[in-house]
Amino acid sequence: MSDSGMGQRLRRLVARSCFEVVRLRDASAPSTYGYYLDRVRSASLPERLSYLVEHADARRNFEAILPKTRSVVVVAKRIPVHSHCDPSVRIARFAGINDYHLSFKRALNAFAEALALLQPNSAEASRACTDSAPILERELARSVHIGIVGHNQQLIIPGEGSHYLLAELFCQTDWTHYRQDFAKGGVPAPLPALGCARCGSCARQCPTGALTGGYDVGKCIAYWNTQHVGVLPPAIAVAMGNRLWGCDTCQDACPHNRGEHAAAALSQCGDFCERSALCDLTLTEILTLSQRQLRKRLQLTCLNHAHPALLIRNACIVIANTRQTRYIAPIASLASHARQPWLRETASWALSRLHPVLS
Ligand code: SF4
Ligand code: SF4
Repeated sequence: MSDSGMGQRLRRLVARSCFEVVRLRDASAPSTYGYYLDRVRSASLPERLSYLVEHADARRNFEAILPKTRSVVVVAKRIPVHSHCDPSVRIARFAGINDYHLSFKRALNAFAEALALLQPNSAEASRACTDSAPILERELARSVHIGIVGHNQQLIIPGEGSHYLLAELFCQTDWTHYRQDFAKGGVPAPLPALGCARCGSCARQCPTGALTGGYDVGKCIAYWNTQHVGVLPPAIAVAMGNRLWGCDTCQDACPHNRGEHAAAALSQCGDFCERSALCDLTLTEILTLSQRQLRKRLQLTCLNHAHPALLIRNACIVIANTRQTRYIAPIASLASHARQPWLRETASWALSRLHPVLS
């Protein structure tokens, strides 16, 4: 096939893909990787995030992900909006859809299969990664000019915002000769300056001060309410407000996300758009279903690897923060009978905050 014929086919494939943004890079790690890995190593990370340090060297070496990698396709997919059925509850945008590790990977594997039909050597393999291998995804995306990492630590795509998921296809085929044919969406390089220095909106609106100065994961609600197993520090629990799972406040505060929701509501891509079961789980159900039943209800959601007791803990905190006294009976039951001591302690804490409302 001639160069132009191949280019045309690749452009068609990329244009028809369900990804809003597509770029290609060679197999060398981005030059900024070292800097970010050094920052990870020197940061004081909570124990649950120690894997970031353990896998730091693997992140530098694409051969560890796929031997003989010659090129990497980087894609971004907009996260559609699905709200929780209870307006008194907020969930992070990624939690409103079914587990993207599965649906995004399926979409990328379908793209890989179509790409394999075009590659000159059919024996060359590829590997799709969706937040599932040691990769500095944001840095990789930044290196191919998909966006810039903002003060809120999110990859911001100019004109599109930050509510995107990233994935990569590592290829043994060297596609770099056709780099320009793998260009879809986003703003072509060079990217406009984002002006975080003159903004600071995310740092001002962060409820815990986690973005004052740099980023302090030890103060970040999204870490505490989705990763930490145990009782939350009272200051974090109070600051959680009505956030049942995760926290998007620093993204909501960002001017780059203004006016983005209408486009997100229109985002369509088969099962990637499916509303997760978490959206339809009421607070009553979270408090009263058995942990086994909850696990079953959450099996297709992004919470499928989290212990269901974390969601019950968060529900107790949200109810206490929003002073919803009608849930006192199930929370009292948890305070006496929950399997985990830390869940009993959280339920007791919630009761102590609800009782003054009654008196
Ligand atoms: S996710 Fe929430 S707590 Fe964490 S930095 Fe952003 S606004 Fe602050
Ligand atoms: S809110 Fe402002 S400072 Fe924060 S990431 Fe967005 S543009 Fe940058």
